[in-house]
Amino acid sequence: MEKHTHQFLKKQAVYWLKKKMTDLCAAEVKLFIKRKKRTADAVGINMKRKEVRIIEVKTSRSDFLRDDVLFDKNGYHTACHYAYLLTPEGMLQKDELPAGYGLLEADISGEITVVRSPVKNKAASLKLETLIKRTGRAATNAYLFQEETRLSKDRTDNMYEKDPIAFLQRLTCQHCRKRDTYLSADGADTAVCRFCSKEIAIKHARPYTISTYNEDFLETLQKCREDAHLPVSPG
Ligand SMILES: [Zn+2]
Repeated sequence: MEKHTHQFLKKQAVYWLKKKMTDLCAAEVKLFIKRKKRTADAVGINMKRKEVRIIEVKTSRSDFLRDDVLFDKNGYHTACHYAYLLTPEGMLQKDELPAGYGLLEADISGEITVVRSPVKNKAASLKLETLIKRTGRAATNAYLFQEETRLSKDRTDNMYEKDPIAFLQRLTCQHCRKRDTYLSADGADTAVCRFCSKEIAIKHARPYTISTYNEDFLETLQKCREDAHLPVSPG
């Protein structure tokens, strides 16, 4: 539940930044602040004003209290110009906020209200160029990942993944370059291209596993066949 709320609010954070800033926004931006690896939940950059905003999402008080980066002298607020916390309504009091941070609250539908404005940090420790580079990478990765997941959504939610006998994978044919979904046996090295009929070498086909199927799946499928009163062998 907390994980889903966190994902949801992160997305709302990006939408909000997009509405405010418009130029470049992304979630899960990897940064190095004073050589420490940090992942900012959402970053938005206004090119004209040369301003960078970072939003950290907190979905519970315990999540807030155990995050030492927020209160660290090399926290997110030092790397950019404006830093915010985004929480569900009424989770934090204004006087609990780390110095300089603004507070955003999202209502049940994800609508965001500014509860406290952040204080501008005039000496961001990261260069604008670095922040653009990092945010651009995150945005590009998100786009490519979405493309792949859109085309390869596993509707079984990997219920039958343990000890698989077959794999459902997205593969790119080395011959005709077309990418499609193939079902292959565990340990198979090749598949036959649906478009050019040539042999695809799986390990060179950028395989992306959508789902795996085990004996349990086969049994369940056979049971379904019996229940549907289908003939024992097809044709
Ligand atoms: Zn092909």
